[in-house]
Amino acid sequence: MAAQQAGSALNVVMLGPPGAGKGTQAERLARRQGLPKISTGDILREAVQAGTELGCIARATMEAGNLVGDDVMIGIVQERLDREDARGGFVLDGFPRTVVQATALDRMVDGRGSLVVLDMVVPEKVLVRRLASRRICGKCGANAPVEWTGPCQKCGGRMVTRIDDGVAIVRERLKVYQRQTKPLVDYYSARPTFRTIDGNQPPDIVTDAVESAIAEAGRGSATL
Ligand SMILES: [Zn+2]
Repeated sequence: MAAQQAGSALNVVMLGPPGAGKGTQAERLARRQGLPKISTGDILREAVQAGTELGCIARATMEAGNLVGDDVMIGIVQERLDREDARGGFVLDGFPRTVVQATALDRMVDGRGSLVVLDMVVPEKVLVRRLASRRICGKCGANAPVEWTGPCQKCGGRMVTRIDDGVAIVRERLKVYQRQTKPLVDYYSARPTFRTIDGNQPPDIVTDAVESAIAEAGRGSATL
């Protein structure tokens, strides 16, 4: 993989509803580009485990049954992006979730190269079908990516259909997502580095679309 210099880093944000296959595509993109994939779930868990100041605040908030606020999330992401392996760029999954977080992210990447925003779009009825039939491992409980049909990737166990994701629950989750994300898409969509990805295609085709969007948006940003 090519060494990236400061200022020409590839900073990527992936947006997309649950069931869009965003996690899988973020993983593939990160691997191909030799960048860290930074998911907020992971770094939140890490911060809590490491017992950092922000991690302790986050834990107390979650133990009280509340959502971790913008300030704490922003602080935890900032600490992660300051680490050495993120110098050449990153693939962010799950952040930003709000316009306040997006504004903070713009400040963080200022002077560190462009920010490419990929919005994965899948029709609601396809998402509902995918999510309502999502499978988990009967042995270790691991989730399978929506398109995965084989045995558990972690332990080889048999996959079973998750029954708690009823269609009504799935519809509600998607509605919440759309409501929260609409302002974010509005915030980013006028930028030359914003791209919509059709997520309603076979995973390998989506991967190709992501790669060409990155190549294009990268070129676009060079002329800014
Ligand atoms: Zn398993």
